[in-house]
Amino acid sequence: MRILIVEDEVRIANDLADAVNSGGYVAEIASDGEDAWFRGGTENYSAIILDLGLPKIDGLTILKRWRQEGVNTPVLVLTARGTWTDRVDGIDAGADDYLPKPFRMEEVMARIRALLRRSTGRAEPSISIGTIILDPRNRQVSVAGIPVTLTPLEFRLLNYLFHHRGRVVSQAELSENLYSHDSERDSNAIEALVGRLRKKLKTDIIETRRGFGYIVPAAAS
Ligand code: CA
Repeated sequence: MRILIVEDEVRIANDLADAVNSGGYVAEIASDGEDAWFRGGTENYSAIILDLGLPKIDGLTILKRWRQEGVNTPVLVLTARGTWTDRVDGIDAGADDYLPKPFRMEEVMARIRALLRRSTGRAEPSISIGTIILDPRNRQVSVAGIPVTLTPLEFRLLNYLFHHRGRVVSQAELSENLYSHDSERDSNAIEALVGRLRKKLKTDIIETRRGFGYIVPAAAS
């Protein structure tokens, strides 16, 4: 899952990107309002972390524009402004959650996991399909109660398919959500990755739809 970080302070943006990447997602950074508005409106992100004080266009304006344009990506607003009226403005503008600065990375990540959970229609923190349990909190996967060690890329792939279970996901969409740079994207790599994952999971939970992509059924038979 790709997460857009909109933050003009380089150190905070990089810290957030590190936390997002090590949390099993792919981080992208936009450091001014114009770039953020454009990317959030044209690319498919699973969630957006949005700072309000930004060069060119402020965060609240961007958020209002996205919502008017029909962009319904979950947005976590970050701000140094901590008064209740600012929080109300942010939420009324279409924010899904709100976190005042300074914040703990652990809290940002917990809130992101909650947003992703809600946006994919779940209340439970971990996802179980058949005998497989995937827990985004500690990036643990187990099959029939036995932990399986996955590489970061394998985890990202399984996490994406589990969050979008019951829907066919194309190789292009997977690739977009696994790698942060276009240069790394390669459909053969996805096929090889799925092959390795199937071996590790020792189940056929990831089904191939020839010419369309992959699907993890909503409930395993
Ligand atoms: Ca700022």
